[in-house]
Amino acid sequence: MPVFDAIVTGCGPAGNLCAERLASAGARVLLLERHLLPRNKPCGGGLSRNALKQIPFSIDEAVDAPVQRVLLTFSGKKTYHKPLEDAGVMVRRERLDAFMAQRAADAGALVRAGCRLDSFTENPRYVTVETSQGRFVGRVLVGADGAHSRVRRLMAGTRRPLSAVGIRVQLERTAEDVYKGTECLLDLGAGPGGYGWIFPKVDHLNVGLYRLPGTSVRGFRQELESFIESRTELRGRKRIGLAAHPIPVEPIQPLISPGGRVLLAGDAAGLAEAFYGEGMAHALMSGRMAAESILEFLAGTAPLASYRNRLRPIFREMRDSRRLASLFFGTPHFGFQRFARNRLTSDLFLRLLTGGLSYRSCMISAALLLPWTWVGPRLGEVEFVPVRTRETDGA
Ligand SMILES: Cc1cc2nc3c(=O)[nH]c(=O)nc-3n(C[C@H](O)[C@H](O)[C@H](O)COP(=O)(O)OP(=O)(O)OC[C@H]3O[C@@H](n4cnc5c(N)ncnc54)[C@H](O)[C@@H]3O)c2cc1C
Repeated sequence: MPVFDAIVTGCGPAGNLCAERLASAGARVLLLERHLLPRNKPCGGGLSRNALKQIPFSIDEAVDAPVQRVLLTFSGKKTYHKPLEDAGVMVRRERLDAFMAQRAADAGALVRAGCRLDSFTENPRYVTVETSQGRFVGRVLVGADGAHSRVRRLMAGTRRPLSAVGIRVQLERTAEDVYKGTECLLDLGAGPGGYGWIFPKVDHLNVGLYRLPGTSVRGFRQELESFIESRTELRGRKRIGLAAHPIPVEPIQPLISPGGRVLLAGDAAGLAEAFYGEGMAHALMSGRMAAESILEFLAGTAPLASYRNRLRPIFREMRDSRRLASLFFGTPHFGFQRFARNRLTSDLFLRLLTGGLSYRSCMISAALLLPWTWVGPRLGEVEFVPVRTRETDGA
């Protein structure tokens, strides 16, 4: 039986990039994915500039459109617009993930789709993996198998990482749609402890709600239904793919197995940030960092534990993003009126997506600029489709 240098589990952003980086450096890599590709994943498909920067090859083929404008609203009342230069792009996950898995294969990784990891055992020299397609042996195992990670459960038991939740549905998009492919809408008043989004894709609108950890998600589907029904332009559209999924926003311990040959990356490690619920940037970063640590380990120059040190900047950002999220969404109307609608402070929040500003700097700058938010220039209002409210219903 061949011994792989690394077995990577999961064809999401974390696993794909990790496998591609390892194979590009000459390692023998097996990449396992339990579904056949392309497969769908509940996600908004907003890939930030910060996330894009982590990918060392062009993904233009898998991009629907760059985002050039964000429409901001609070409970669908007035709509304000913020032109964007470089915040990110819209993708469909089934395309992005299949494209990146192909890049890993092109780099030399053996990709086994439809192959589910069931268990693993570790000895001082190897990790043996049992899957739905048989047994494989590797020198290292990477668990990049998402929020419900099997590898994490085998390592850490049933303890679950602190998680936010996202729910999304895909609505049909019409030829003359009011939503242009290059703009997206964020509703910061769409329910408690989070926001709602409308992200246009080439062939549908991705509509969803995000909720911070600790916020009740009872009746979450109904809330999404109400969000859709309240917007006249969304009503009556055909829907597919309703799905809710956790977004883990606190790193889980241990990230590396006691035997030192198994590590976790991306959602499996609990690495999404809490403010936007953005998980792909840290998934990609951790996938790349895992590959770097593994290459050093294989070369005998560092233990796999160096991975934990590499992750430190991510841990810091995550801690600060949880703080910012609870401050902002604790008083969302204040946050919207003071910070989101002010041109200068809204820039700060958008720079979080480009990687141009840390969460800590964003919080400090926003606090210093608070007095200015009463007098500074505000975002322009745009005419948008009226939203159905209780008052308009009664009228
Ligand atoms: C509704 C919603 C909207 C979101 N919107 C955004 C957004 O707009 N932008 C953003 O950046 N983030 C968003 N996120 C978060 C983002 O989707 C995740 O953080 C990101 O996908 C994590 O990537 P990953 O590679 O760690 O894991 P995943 O993308 O979850 O990939 C894990 C892979 O492992 C496979 N797998 C699982 N178990 C096994 C097994 N036993 N054997 C083999 N394979 C297995 C899975 O099938 C999957 O393909 C959203 C999340 C949700 C729920």
